[in-house]
Amino acid sequence: MSPNTPREPKPPLIWANTLMFVLTLAIAAVAVPWYGLTHGFTTATWVVAVFFTGASGMAITAGYHRLWAHKTYDAHWSVRLILLVFGTMALQNSVFAWASGHRTHHLKVDDEDRDPYSARRGFWFSHIGWMLREYPSGREDFSNIPDLRRDRMLAFQHRYYVPLALLVNFGLTLLAGVIFGDIWGMLFLAGFMRLVWSHHVTFFINSLAHMWGKQPYTEDNTARDNPVLAVVTYGEGYHNFHHIFAHDYRNGVRWWQWDPTKWLIGALSLVGLTRRLKRTPAFQIQKALLAMEFTRAKARLARFPAETHSHLEPLRVRLAHEYENFLSAIADWARVKEEWLNEKKRVVMEQWEQVDLQSKLRDIERRLSLQRRRLRVLHAQLA
Ligand SMILES: [Zn+2]
Ligand SMILES: [Zn+2]
Repeated sequence: MSPNTPREPKPPLIWANTLMFVLTLAIAAVAVPWYGLTHGFTTATWVVAVFFTGASGMAITAGYHRLWAHKTYDAHWSVRLILLVFGTMALQNSVFAWASGHRTHHLKVDDEDRDPYSARRGFWFSHIGWMLREYPSGREDFSNIPDLRRDRMLAFQHRYYVPLALLVNFGLTLLAGVIFGDIWGMLFLAGFMRLVWSHHVTFFINSLAHMWGKQPYTEDNTARDNPVLAVVTYGEGYHNFHHIFAHDYRNGVRWWQWDPTKWLIGALSLVGLTRRLKRTPAFQIQKALLAMEFTRAKARLARFPAETHSHLEPLRVRLAHEYENFLSAIADWARVKEEWLNEKKRVVMEQWEQVDLQSKLRDIERRLSLQRRRLRVLHAQLA
């Protein structure tokens, strides 16, 4: 754009959203500390505020995100109802609007014209700016949620979203205030403070989780794995993994990675309230990790000056050799998996055969993890 080209006018403001964000933030920043200092909050108010924060936050992560937007598991209607009630409390629009925009985000990630909250348009835009103006990238289009539109519970929520959101936010908060005898304190802490906190930590997933952290699985998009963000977002900080394996009910895939949302979904499955939890096969995860490490090792080798190339030859040979091993492991795995699937199709199946094939698959998985260890040594030599 030449300096003389007139700037394109910004799309018109969405006043309802803008006022809602400004007013709730102002109350949380000014009225809440003032009330705390002059009147104080009771223990019961704190407990309810923490409970509402966790419940509405996890209704977004376990419900809006992993259940409805990505279909990573099935849930009993009672679980869906609770997720819907507390998800409505989070004031992040209806499931229809949220899941539809989120599916577009995954499909068009980083596309400045089509990703509704593309991180390439900067922190402000991806965090909150995208909701403040009528950007063409944010235009509602429910053609990507035919499955959700058939759900009557979700259709009801979408149709009566505003009264339901007001009812849940004010109704439940005031009810708790009456029960525990602290109406104003409850309204400020469990109402406004909770809302502003849960808004911004969720928004961090669209902003910070696309800017700050590591990319162990893929560099095809800006999504990052960030354990710090995972702590405040109930596990959603492992966003690099999530963008490559979006159909997995886990975001923090390793057992030790902080992901209370996966623990909740897993625990509910033990009592039969959630079912058909989708998991990415360990091999696919190893494969993505290794492919990324090979790309990085090759890029590092290429960065060395030409005069050092003869010294690097042994490393280059080793890397090529490892890469061949990697490709052959992938081919072996595909072949054994195919055999295994054929076995499964057979009506009469010898149990021992299946066990044999499964152990073969596990062997190949072990080969890959050994290879990752060897690559780490190689990386250290290149550093
Ligand atoms: Zn994302
Ligand atoms: Zn997602």
